[in-house]
Amino acid sequence: MAVFVIAEPCVAVKDAACVEVCPVDCIYEGADKYYINPDECIECGACEPECPVDAIFDADSVPAEWAQFTGIERAFFSDKEATEAQVKAIMDSLDPTNRPNDRRRSDVHH
Ligand code: SF4
Ligand code: SF4
Repeated sequence: MAVFVIAEPCVAVKDAACVEVCPVDCIYEGADKYYINPDECIECGACEPECPVDAIFDADSVPAEWAQFTGIERAFFSDKEATEAQVKAIMDSLDPTNRPNDRRRSDVHH
């Protein structure tokens, strides 16, 4: 296992279910998503099944389309401002009808 990473589905959802279960409190809130501190994560995996939108992955298993989030996660802890601007740009580029929070809503209703 490797450290865990929060990918795009968390953006704008921010359910925080993962935060509750992390034994070392290494999941931090950002403006548009949560971030796992890779230097503090003990790779226990407790957070992964808790995420209602399946945003959390072992760093070795991040889907290719979200590969950039592994670097984003680490970057947040050294340059928060630039990283949040990058995430905001990613969010703005998403199709508004296919934003993660809308995906969750449709999951709930169907
Ligand atoms: S549980 Fe999932 S959506 Fe919620 S904050 Fe954690 S990673 Fe984001
Ligand atoms: S894998 Fe464990 S230590 Fe790492 S963020 Fe998830 S709950 Fe926290």
